[in-house]
Amino acid sequence: MAASAGPEIERLIGLLSKLPGMGPRSARRAALALLKKRDQLLVPLAEAMTVAAERVRPCSVCGAPDTRDPCAICSDSERDRTLICVVEEAGALWAMERVGAFRGRYHVLGGLLSALDGIGPEALRIGPLVERVRAEGVAEVVLALPATVDGQTTAHYVAERLAPLQVAVTTLARGVPVGGELDWLDDGTIAQALRARRPA
Ligand code: ZN
Repeated sequence: MAASAGPEIERLIGLLSKLPGMGPRSARRAALALLKKRDQLLVPLAEAMTVAAERVRPCSVCGAPDTRDPCAICSDSERDRTLICVVEEAGALWAMERVGAFRGRYHVLGGLLSALDGIGPEALRIGPLVERVRAEGVAEVVLALPATVDGQTTAHYVAERLAPLQVAVTTLARGVPVGGELDWLDDGTIAQALRARRPA
């Protein structure tokens, strides 16, 4: 029998449990933490969520969520407009921006091709990417997609779609992480690093 905390609180717990990484137990703990920290956590969070729900939309150019359209990155005239980095979701974009090493713009696919989950090319923003490359004189597309089966299937498909256009298609190098000890790495990573070796 499910323990009942009253319908309003149960609704809060139910919604929290739908978040990634949250199970029913952690949702219950999160709800309790929110209710205990009403002024420091619950009210500011509710306000932030209202603002996000009202004002954040996907950028019509790259698909990244922002309060303006085109987004801050697409409108930045300092960015290299000939360079586009393709990512699965905005989380990867944020990671790249945190590093600050990429000065081009992005394209968010909104997912990966998956035969298992029935996700085909039309469900992703691949058509708009091809259009962008064609219309904006893009010189290089960097595929920064996950090193998973779906990630690599998607990268391969995107590369094929871009092949008829005059654009270089590259992928991120994979290999030994900074500070990584060889005997701690999995076999696939070591094999990839060896294949991607370059002059010292
Ligand atoms: Zn954008």
